[in-house]
Amino acid sequence: MIISHERYQQIKNLAKNCFKFFNTRNPLEVFQKLYIPYSLINIEGDLKGFTHINEKGEPWVYINKKYDYYSMKIIAAHELGHIVLHNSDTLNMFEDDGVSSETEYEANIFLMEFMPQTQPHTKNYMELSPTALKNYICNKIY
Ligand SMILES: [Zn+2]
Repeated sequence: MIISHERYQQIKNLAKNCFKFFNTRNPLEVFQKLYIPYSLINIEGDLKGFTHINEKGEPWVYINKKYDYYSMKIIAAHELGHIVLHNSDTLNMFEDDGVSSETEYEANIFLMEFMPQTQPHTKNYMELSPTALKNYICNKIY
């Protein structure tokens, strides 16, 4: 585990509070309730989604619409994680081949906690390395 136990608990609590406050596990509904604009757009290649933050600090989420609705929710939950956890970053890419950085790992933890139905049934996802977790999630996106 490359993040501290405290940080993990913090991400877990943020995801839980997000669910409690908005009363949905659909991240696209959370975007609507937060007035965060999002666009489902055609993107060539493996890029799944990204969040652009303008100079005023306002996010705009882009999701590749070549994937099915469940997959787009997974991508959106990852991007919601970035918005909640890393709101100072200007651009976050969710790519197949990207380096498994700490922020990517944290956004994936947020996704696992916000959409528990995506968690593996047979083992605790925290036992997976950041790269293994990313590969596990990518395999759920069609
Ligand atoms: Zn990301």
